Amino acid sequence: MFDFHHSYAQLPERAHARLDPVPVAAPRLVAFNRELAAEMGAEGIPDDAMLAAVFSGNTVPAGARPIALAYAGHQFGHFVPQLGDGRALLLGEVVDASGRRRDVQLKGSGRTPFSRGGDGRAALGPVLREYLVSEAMQALGIPTTRALAAVTTGEPVFRDTALPGAVFTRVAASHVRVGTFQYFAAREDFAGLRALADHVIARHYPQAAQAQAPYEALLEAVVEAQAALVARWLGVGFIHGVMNTDNMAVSGETIDYGPCAFMDAYDPGTVFSSIDRNGRYAYANQPPIAQWNLARLAEALLPLVDETPAAAVERVTPVVHGFAARFERHWLAVMRAKLGLASAEESDAELAQGLLDRMQAAGLDYTLTFRALAEAAGGAPAPAGLDGWLHEWRARLGRDAQSPEERVAAMRGANPAVIPRNHRVEEALAAAVEREDFGPFERLRVMLAQPFDVDADTAAFLAPPVQPDPRYRTFCGT
Ligand code: AMP
Ligand code: MG
Repeated sequence: MFDFHHSYAQLPERAHARLDPVPVAAPRLVAFNRELAAEMGAEGIPDDAMLAAVFSGNTVPAGARPIALAYAGHQFGHFVPQLGDGRALLLGEVVDASGRRRDVQLKGSGRTPFSRGGDGRAALGPVLREYLVSEAMQALGIPTTRALAAVTTGEPVFRDTALPGAVFTRVAASHVRVGTFQYFAAREDFAGLRALADHVIARHYPQAAQAQAPYEALLEAVVEAQAALVARWLGVGFIHGVMNTDNMAVSGETIDYGPCAFMDAYDPGTVFSSIDRNGRYAYANQPPIAQWNLARLAEALLPLVDETPAAAVERVTPVVHGFAARFERHWLAVMRAKLGLASAEESDAELAQGLLDRMQAAGLDYTLTFRALAEAAGGAPAPAGLDGWLHEWRARLGRDAQSPEERVAAMRGANPAVIPRNHRVEEALAAAVEREDFGPFERLRVMLAQPFDVDADTAAFLAPPVQPDPRYRTFCGT
């Protein structure tokens, strides 16, 4: 089906471990992303039984050479020198006709040398959540890893209770994390560190190789990619939930959908993850946390930047601090698009903040309020609760040359109507897990693929929960 390549496996052996997946009892295909497979140049896609065999790990496809990747990471601020793929295996890389290289990884495929206490498995609920949310992010235009397949294993996994097991197949620009750099830096393995940095430059940021100081240029490129990414998260009300350094990909894609969730009513302090007791990864904390993580990347890169530590620190510090201004610039661009502003004025940030403050005070739904503004720009009634702010906004629109028709079209394209609402996601997961009914999952998947379009079918999916659950919590996919 795929022609596999293995550039990551060329890195020093201590970066990974070679092993095959642990077979499962009775694999059954529950989802396969044919569009993505076609985009990747898949040929001769086999029948469902064979797809289930391949994407459960029971059959290692020709040309694949599965490896578990080593990495470290700061989890909730505490450094763990050895994490790694405890339940995932990279089958290899697929290069499409345009030269785009993507990792294909099985998640839930059994124990590895990095499993520590874990069983190496994944439960069906979190697998379906990652499938839905990562594909929703893609449809929203946000850089993300993709979902290629989901397979049930016919075996239980034991968490608080016995749950149906599943294997998820993830496609990513790469699986190199901030924590991968930390792994080598913590071991003072500078040869490994340099090999990794050169790999990432060649793969993701080839222009950095041309720079006078390639490793600083690498850092700067990652800072820029993360600033752009997190600004887009905020634009759609996305909360990652567990922004540990091992869950931040240096490619700039959103990765590791565990306790992630979308906000309903706007509140910058929103936290859903059951393990995030102090709100470290709350909605509005995501930009400073991204910068904190990038400071850890900068620390890991120090030995490559300058032989003298103090000199190296002096050189990377402004790059890390540059995150804030880059983020502001991206956030403002996101907000201008959401507000239908075609030009830039000094006071636009204030206008955007004014809206958010009123949304928070009135407990307005983040997604629906922006979507209603898109319609209001075309003459529909404006959402209630925005009082004086609407006058300011309309006055500001009056200073743009855009026609109302152009503005409505642009705003509809910048303000999704359909997001993976928590109650809808939970509904779909419960039906699959409790009743083996994949209908709701499939329907939600289809809706989320067209987030900017509203029709009779989607209308029912737009609304926030009738009775929002203030105690709604998401759990890590472990
Ligand atoms: P996560 O919270 O999914 O980002 O995972 C954090 C670390 O725990 C990673 O090193 C994972 O590979 C590992 N891990 C999570 N769940 C399991 C599991 N069921 N078995 C083995 N390792 C796991
Ligand atoms: Mg992780």
